[in-house]
Amino acid sequence: MRAARLHGLGDLRIEEVAEPSGEVLVTVEAATACATDVKCLRHGHLILGPYPARFGHETVGVREDTGERVLVGDSVPCARCRFCDVGQTQLCERMTWVLGGFGQRIAAPAAALHAVADGLPAAGAAMAEPLAAAVHAVARAGVAACPDARAAVLGGGTMGLMLARLLVLAGCDVTLADRHEERRAQAQAFGARAVQRLDPAGHDLVMEAVGRPEGWRAAIDAAAPGAAVVLVGGCPSGSEVTLPAAPLHYAELDIRGAFHHTPGEVDRALALLAAGDVDWRALAGPTIGLDELHDALQRPSHGEARKLVVDPHR
Ligand SMILES: [Zn+2]
Ligand SMILES: [Zn+2]
Repeated sequence: MRAARLHGLGDLRIEEVAEPSGEVLVTVEAATACATDVKCLRHGHLILGPYPARFGHETVGVREDTGERVLVGDSVPCARCRFCDVGQTQLCERMTWVLGGFGQRIAAPAAALHAVADGLPAAGAAMAEPLAAAVHAVARAGVAACPDARAAVLGGGTMGLMLARLLVLAGCDVTLADRHEERRAQAQAFGARAVQRLDPAGHDLVMEAVGRPEGWRAAIDAAAPGAAVVLVGGCPSGSEVTLPAAPLHYAELDIRGAFHHTPGEVDRALALLAAGDVDWRALAGPTIGLDELHDALQRPSHGEARKLVVDPHR
């Protein structure tokens, strides 16, 4: 079968590979791509196995044993470590990562599979993986406790747009900041206000979805006294952030990271997509084949925020 494999930094090859082996074999219908895939290609990533490595972690397909449509979750927590014991499975110390969506078939532990509702197309269901990370980040923000908070999202990429939508659904007054006009229009269609720059110290909750040190700093600068700042975008490893000391202390800013998701959050995301509460079509980009993947991941993203959809059988 054909699959994309990484042979080293920047070295992506489309190859004929052996059939994968594992508990359940799934024929891939669609795999969406995100900034993590770009990171995997350019810089490597902690979730990648040894080279040559299969990748693609937002995957939907059909189980070969039962014929059911499933989302192949990208991780299975161990259920035994100190984090799994208390339900913080996103921090599992012995996580099994399940990668390989950019291939015609993927093998997965049964525990990684989530049922997909009839009527939810594969490309939409695949977005449950990043949406689950957004669900997790909003849970970290604790908005249930303050539904009318002045909430802000920094960055109008697909993650920022998903965060804005979830905050709107939670009843927050939401402002999204992005320098691209097209992304501001997408945020408005999701029910948020959109601006080029956030007011300094003007928000009770700031969710950062830029993934660069300057974005983390801008998120802190936009936080009002007593605010929570949730850092959602992962900075490249080795990068450092200089923090302003005074507001952290005197304004009691509460800075939290948000990483990954739990299996329950994946199911919640699938339900939101199936119900149409998050309009996945507004976030779907062109469908491409494996041969187009390398160039598509290298291309700088301009204009609207759209996720690549890969059909490995094209
Ligand atoms: Zn992703
Ligand atoms: Zn664990």
